[in-house]
Amino acid sequence: MIRRRELWVLPWLPAAVLRAQGAEAVRGRVAGDMKLRLADGRVVALSGDTDSTGVLRDERLAREEFELRGRFTAPDSFSIDPIHLRAIFVWRGGKKFVVTYWCDVCAIRAWTPGKCQCCQDEMALDLRDPALKET
Ligand SMILES: [Zn+2]
Repeated sequence: MIRRRELWVLPWLPAAVLRAQGAEAVRGRVAGDMKLRLADGRVVALSGDTDSTGVLRDERLAREEFELRGRFTAPDSFSIDPIHLRAIFVWRGGKKFVVTYWCDVCAIRAWTPGKCQCCQDEMALDLRDPALKET
């Protein structure tokens, strides 16, 4: 009985969950401060938390193709999901990578550019396969 009921419920579930997490995504290149030019030429204004903004302003990523998860708040405005949801990716050579930052000395990973919380050295950009574990 229970099993049959789950079958009824399940088809609804993934869509609802994705919706709650911000299922939409945009893909394009940075075109000015907190602006993304999509493949079709449209320019979308981006908003996000401080850490996400830090990534999009990172000079080392200025020429990358970004994929951002979040949701449209207007036809030309896109709100990026909070940094802890891992909403920022770049595409290189047909592969998608998560944008992370890494301190080799302390083995500390971060999600926004800046100094290592431990040794205070500037952290290195470290694009990672999304399938890898976070540490
Ligand atoms: Zn360090």
